[in-house]
Amino acid sequence: MQWTASEQAFEEARKYIPGGVDSPVRAFGSVGGVPPFIERGEGAYLIDIDGNRYIDYVQSWGPLIFGHCDPEIENAVIDTAKKGLSFGAPTPLETALAKEIVDLFESIDKVRFVNSGTEAVMSAIRLARGATGRDDIVKFTGCYHGHSDSLLVQAGSGAATFGNPSSPGVPADLTRHTLLAEYNDLASVERCFEASEGIACVIVEPIAGNMGLVPAEEEFLRGLRRLCDAHGALLIFDEVMSGFRASLRGAQGLTEVKPDLVTLGKVIGGGMPVGAFGGSAEIMAQLSPEGPVYQAGTLSGNPVAMAAGLASLRKLKADPQIYPLLEARAKRLTEGFEAAAKEAGLPMVTTVRGSMFGYFFTDEPVRNFEEAKRGDNEIFKRFHHGMLERGIYLACSSYETGFLSTAIDEGMVDETVTAAREVMKAIA
Ligand SMILES: *Cc1c(COP(=O)(O)O)cnc(C)c1O
Repeated sequence: MQWTASEQAFEEARKYIPGGVDSPVRAFGSVGGVPPFIERGEGAYLIDIDGNRYIDYVQSWGPLIFGHCDPEIENAVIDTAKKGLSFGAPTPLETALAKEIVDLFESIDKVRFVNSGTEAVMSAIRLARGATGRDDIVKFTGCYHGHSDSLLVQAGSGAATFGNPSSPGVPADLTRHTLLAEYNDLASVERCFEASEGIACVIVEPIAGNMGLVPAEEEFLRGLRRLCDAHGALLIFDEVMSGFRASLRGAQGLTEVKPDLVTLGKVIGGGMPVGAFGGSAEIMAQLSPEGPVYQAGTLSGNPVAMAAGLASLRKLKADPQIYPLLEARAKRLTEGFEAAAKEAGLPMVTTVRGSMFGYFFTDEPVRNFEEAKRGDNEIFKRFHHGMLERGIYLACSSYETGFLSTAIDEGMVDETVTAAREVMKAIA
């Protein structure tokens, strides 16, 4: 495979765009090398500007559950675009998409649309703070909730539960209101509640997908619900990734635990920029213009984006077999990876939740970020490049999740496993 055009395009991009990309992970920093620049998508495939074709397991980092250029989503976008791109005034499309979401999620009576997952989480946290009159929040190490200030937090030195900024530009005055706990570890959450004067909310990815794929244990989620109730704090499920991915109802289709607020994104936009947050009518009534908590957006509820989301959700609802089917294919893939690793004498553990899959080059089970870090990144890098050279496009960081789309058939999965066997053998 040749990447001459991508090499040139990357060089050119770096002259005008910091790092040549508009989101850091795209620069291939953790695996090295040049990211293929994409010319177009086609069903299961990505085609880069050198004409290389790859089976795409990234799916724009989650949104494209029907693969590229699904005709129904494409037509919905084109038909809507012909009527005008944006009005800054209400349209019935927003209500239609809101109804679909409310209908699916028991925990959501009302929902507000925004333009990204970051914005959804930022707004949900403001709402939680406004509704409770408290400032502190709890987040988990290894969970990602977008790049808003309160959430760009890392552990401080010593045993402190209060966070430090993980990026320059984030005021320490802000992150001292974010307490950090350990995923799947209730005792660490209890310590946060003891340390704080008042916690507005606990935000969690109920199926973490940003430290590799690491699902929360049911007992852990139940404990979070119990602790939040005992302290009058709100529980936020960040389902920007897992929503419509783990199941039609996201993680909430797989757990008994009900959150107070839910954030969504990725699949609900069908590939267009959409985020959303929702909850009970009572909490959502705190939001402007009904209530005092301010939140707004010039392009929020954009008709073209709503049409893409609506077409995707209706397709998903119309076919209940999609999730078991995607899960079976994801398992076929990860079982193939595991067998290949065993053959080659490499360590590997894998996880599947619906259309999401994860693999770590380690022998130990992974339940939190510390354990996720034990994955061998040298093997990961070589595996990634070996697969890319064989036309398999996997996430370029071991902390990302893989995705199946309905366009990826069994034959393609088997082709991927065959490639994995060759690559792992070469690494060993
Ligand atoms: C992707 C993601 C976000 C951020 O969404 P953007 O659209 O990238 O801003 C937030 N939370 C989770 C769980 C995500 O996976």
